[in-house]
Amino acid sequence: MLQCTAVTDVPFYEALLALATMEGGPEHPTDVLAQDDFLLCELGEHDEAAEHAAHVWTADVPDDDRDLWLLWTGTGAHRVYRFDTLPLCPALLRDLIARTVTSCAYLDHHPGPHSWTVTDPLGDLITEHIHREVRRLTAGEDSSDADADADADTDGP
Ligand SMILES: [Zn+2]
Ligand SMILES: [Zn+2]
Repeated sequence: MLQCTAVTDVPFYEALLALATMEGGPEHPTDVLAQDDFLLCELGEHDEAAEHAAHVWTADVPDDDRDLWLLWTGTGAHRVYRFDTLPLCPALLRDLIARTVTSCAYLDHHPGPHSWTVTDPLGDLITEHIHREVRRLTAGEDSSDADADADADTDGP
């Protein structure tokens, strides 16, 4: 299951207001968001009728997991959005062999599958690119770009 590809620009002042008024919000909302930030829908591919959801802030409140989300449908002039503080999806993935428990990273009652079944090719691509850049920069001053690229292709993690 692939991640939804919807992207939206942040309604900046409303985002700041939502951050400033939520319980457990950041001390300095302007540290969290910049005016020209974009947010990605984090859900798995879903029906057009369902709202897209981007996580904005994890509430810093003990025993309360209400996070701030930007929810929207449509694009451009047809975009309808709202900010809401919502509890996280309570679903857990238990791996009895590895003895790990993974919690779903999405909001409660989200459409589509839980977060652990969703892959993010774009995010993986960016991560891979960063790793390659780091390898290139740490490969040594003498190697040309072509050498660094060849190294990056053969080097393990
Ligand atoms: Zn979406
Ligand atoms: Zn879930």
